[in-house]
Amino acid sequence: MKALKPINVYSDDFSKKEKYAITNVFIRINAKANFCIIRPGGEGKYFKSEHNPSLIYTRKPIITYDKSIQVLKNDEIGKESDLDIIKNYSKGKLENTCIDMLNGSVVVGFDLFKLAFYFLARVEEYETGNGDLYDRFKSQNDFLCTHALNIIPIVDELSYLLGDLIEEHHKTALNFRAKKNWNGHRFAVGLSHDIDRLKGKSIARYIYWGLKGLISIRRNKNEAKNYFNQIIRWIKLAEDPYWNLYDILKFNEQNGISSTFFFLSLRNFIADGERRYRINNRNIAQAIKELDQKNNEIGMHALNHSIDHIDRLKREKERLENAVGKEVLGIRNHYLKFHFPDTWKIDQQLGLKYDSTLGWQDNVGFRAGTCWPFFGYDAVADNSINVLEIPLVIMDGVLDHILSADLNCNAIVDKTLTIIDKVENYGGAVAVLWHNDYLNQLEHPEHWKAYKEIINHLKTRDVSIGTLLGIHKMWLAQFGEP
Ligand SMILES: [Zn+2]
Repeated sequence: MKALKPINVYSDDFSKKEKYAITNVFIRINAKANFCIIRPGGEGKYFKSEHNPSLIYTRKPIITYDKSIQVLKNDEIGKESDLDIIKNYSKGKLENTCIDMLNGSVVVGFDLFKLAFYFLARVEEYETGNGDLYDRFKSQNDFLCTHALNIIPIVDELSYLLGDLIEEHHKTALNFRAKKNWNGHRFAVGLSHDIDRLKGKSIARYIYWGLKGLISIRRNKNEAKNYFNQIIRWIKLAEDPYWNLYDILKFNEQNGISSTFFFLSLRNFIADGERRYRINNRNIAQAIKELDQKNNEIGMHALNHSIDHIDRLKREKERLENAVGKEVLGIRNHYLKFHFPDTWKIDQQLGLKYDSTLGWQDNVGFRAGTCWPFFGYDAVADNSINVLEIPLVIMDGVLDHILSADLNCNAIVDKTLTIIDKVENYGGAVAVLWHNDYLNQLEHPEHWKAYKEIINHLKTRDVSIGTLLGIHKMWLAQFGEP
C-alpha cells in the first residue's frame, strides 16, 4: 500500500460502505484515502492547511471554499437518479451536466462511490425471485446487461474519470494509466479450467443416450439417429478426449505458463444427473498430484447443490485436500451459482482466500462492473469479507451461446480480445475459463485452436499469465488484506 498516493477525503461522516467504495475506487487510480471528518463550520480551516490533493464528499456543494473537487453524496445506495446517469453510458461519455464548475471547484453531480458499491457488492442480486432453473441470477434482469454495459467495466471507468479530474485540477500526477501492479506487468490473466467431466467413453453415457434415442424414435427419427450415431462415434474413439489433464499440463509446460484446475470432489461418479468422477479414483488422484507438483493450482469446484450448506462444502473441501495433499485456497462454484452475500460468507468460514465465480452463465464481460479483483462485502451485516473476488470475464460455453452460428476460431479470439483489451486498458486482473472438455479436438476443434491462439497473443502483451492463486498473491503483495 506504501506506493499509493495519499489523498485527503473530507466528509461530515463516513459509513463503512462509503469507506469500502472509496478505497476500491482509489486503488484503481493509484491512490489511498485519508478519511478526514469535517466539523460543522470548520471547512475553511481544514481545507486551507492542506498539502495533499483533496476531495470533498458532501451532500450539498460547499461554496465557501474554492479549488476543491467535490463528489455529491446520496445516502441511498444505487439511487435511481444516479443509475439514470449511467444508463446511456454505453453510447458515449457522461452528460456534461454531471460534472460542473462552481466557484472554482469541480462538482461531480452524482455519487460515483455509491454506484461503485452498488456494482461491486452486487446489491441488485440480493433480491430473490429472479433466479433461473438453477436458481441463478439471470443476466436479463441485470442492470449492466440490460443497458449493454456488460463489456464496459463501469466501476473502473468512473474511477479513471475521477483520477483524471484529480490530476487535472490539482496539477498532480497519480500515474495510474501507466501503473504495473501485477509482478511488474500492466495486467494479469488467470487461466482456469473447471473439471466437470473426465470420462467421455463411458458405459453410463452410452446407456443414457441409448434410452434417449429409444424414447425419441416415434417423435423424431433424426434425433434418435443422432443419439445412436453419437454412441458409435464415441465407442470407435481410440482415446478418451475428456481424459486430457496431461495434455493441458503439457501445453502449459511448452508455453511456460500455469493454470488453475477446479475439481469437483465427489464421493460417487454420478451427480447432478450426469457422469462426473470420483476424486479418489487412482488415476485422477495421481494427475491432481502431478498438476500441483508442476506449479499448477488445484482449486475447489463446489457442486451447485452444496453452495448453501457449509457441512457439505466442508466434506468436499476435505476430500479434495486429501487428494492434493495440501490446503485448497480457491473456489469456483459449478454452474457459476452464487448467492450474495451468503456464498462469500461461507467461503470465508471455510478458510478460502479467493472466489472466481463472478461471471455470467449466459453472457461475457464484467458482472460487477470491474476488471479488478476486490474483496466481498456483506451489505446486510455491513462488513467487508476477507475473500478476494477475481472476476470471471469469459467462459467457453457462453461463447457458443452468443456467437451461435458464427462460432469459429477467429470469432472466439476476437470476442476474447475485445474484453482483454479493456482489462489491459484499466490495468486489471481477471480469470478466463476453458473447461477441459472444451479443450479437445473432437468436440470443440475451434475452441482448442482459439485457446492456443489467445495464449500466443497474450504472450506478446505486457501481462502476467498464470494461476488465480498467483493473482491473489500479487494482490496481497500490492494492496494487502481488506
Ligand atoms: Zn462446472
